[in-house]
Amino acid sequence: MKSILLLLIGFTALALMSWKFPDNRWKVAKYKNYSLYYTSLDNQNKEAYLTLINNGLGSVKSFFNSPYRETFDVYVHANRHSLDSTWQKDWGMPDFKSECWMVASGVAKKFDMISPARWDSEACEHVYAQTIKTQQLITHELVHVFHGQRNGSPDFSTVEGLDWFVEGLATYASGQCDSLRIAEVKKAIAENKIPKGLDGFWSGKLKYGLSGSLVMFIDKRYGRAKLMELLPFTKREQVLASLNITEAALLDQWKGYIDSL
Ligand SMILES: [Zn+2]
Repeated sequence: MKSILLLLIGFTALALMSWKFPDNRWKVAKYKNYSLYYTSLDNQNKEAYLTLINNGLGSVKSFFNSPYRETFDVYVHANRHSLDSTWQKDWGMPDFKSECWMVASGVAKKFDMISPARWDSEACEHVYAQTIKTQQLITHELVHVFHGQRNGSPDFSTVEGLDWFVEGLATYASGQCDSLRIAEVKKAIAENKIPKGLDGFWSGKLKYGLSGSLVMFIDKRYGRAKLMELLPFTKREQVLASLNITEAALLDQWKGYIDSL
């Protein structure tokens, strides 16, 4: 009798807990290129997210005219706390706290994001209902996944001096380097407000435009096949040597190209 009573109390406690705390265990759905991990909070968003991911995969594959080499995992985090604890673990930084504009990351084996439907409350600068921008952001991360699968450092942890290339490629190939951003870069060139060296390109308000348009220039000047050849490199010197150009000359020619647009 006593044990039945205890059991009953146990069940009641469990029932109360599940009423109070929604189920946040990972569910998984497997597809050809990836496995999707999500929680029951996103049951109703799953189809929309699959569309965003599949559109992104299609854009990336046609941009590079090549397939993904490996399958990868997509994690849709119910909130920022869940994303932060993953990043703390994956990056070995137990005290890491993300900035409000950070909503996603991509490496060879993994794409993490805060559930886009909750960006309005869990993030700043991102609005789920801005469908083109939302799609571009997801495509941007999928470019990182593609790049990671061909890079000497699949999680980019030992990449040196190439922030401008890694981020510029994802910005350009995802369509984030739009005419508005090009116009901002044009203006900055006219006003002589361009960073002195490549290291300054992925920083400040213009980082997407600066880095994205630099990779756009490489694509237009050297061609898509050359862009593909740059994917494995982990050091800036390797990229510059492959382009057979100095940092100063690259920046000079990039300025001329932007001026001509
Ligand atoms: Zn990025």
